[in-house]
Amino acid sequence: MDNLVLIGAPGSGKGTQSNLFIERKGYGHISTGNLLRAEIAAGSDLGKKVQEVMNSGKLVSDALVVELIKNNVDLENNAYIFDGYPRNIEQAETLDLILEGFPQKAVYLKIDTEKLVNRLENRRMTRDGKHIYNLLTNPPKKEGICDVTGEELIQRDDDRGDVVRDRMKVFADAIAPMLKHYSEQGILVEVDADQNLEDVYQAILSKIS
Ligand code: AMP
Repeated sequence: MDNLVLIGAPGSGKGTQSNLFIERKGYGHISTGNLLRAEIAAGSDLGKKVQEVMNSGKLVSDALVVELIKNNVDLENNAYIFDGYPRNIEQAETLDLILEGFPQKAVYLKIDTEKLVNRLENRRMTRDGKHIYNLLTNPPKKEGICDVTGEELIQRDDDRGDVVRDRMKVFADAIAPMLKHYSEQGILVEVDADQNLEDVYQAILSKIS
């Protein structure tokens, strides 16, 4: 299996699609957002360093994120879904180096960012980010409770208010060079992410096979 690099705006479905691919195809998951939030929850030095930046919707330093990735991949033995990395062209180049010698495809989840503000407002998840719901399109069976683990569902602080707009701007400023980068390598596939999660999954699957 090729390693899959998911790119798309916050709320475009990277986490949701990652979870489907992990469950059904056995990929490993590298979600830099989840890894960073786990550091914050654990109260580690790294967590303390990144908390403020994450709450503002800006990007944390690449050096810290690269370290987290390297500590969590075993490329010899597993194919991975990269979710939330890269966020800009420099990170795409860094990831090419990490993945050197291993096949990769980039999947762009394309959707009008205006529609995403509403998606993020309605997004709920378990604290570790591993189970994701949308109150309008994919609600849990019991309000506020994860169907799978029975945990309480939370709304991320950075899914509210002005921070959402700032995160969209960070994305909008960075996406074009990344698309060019992967398109020039002939490994870019684009998928319409404005569909239900099963249709998006099938669209990705058909384009990467
Ligand atoms: P996410 O869960 O992917 O939406 O990421 C949440 C936040 O974590 C982002 O707004 C950034 O502050 C930080 N973050 C996640 N991935 C990266 C990355 N690749 N580079 C820098 N910061 C990141």
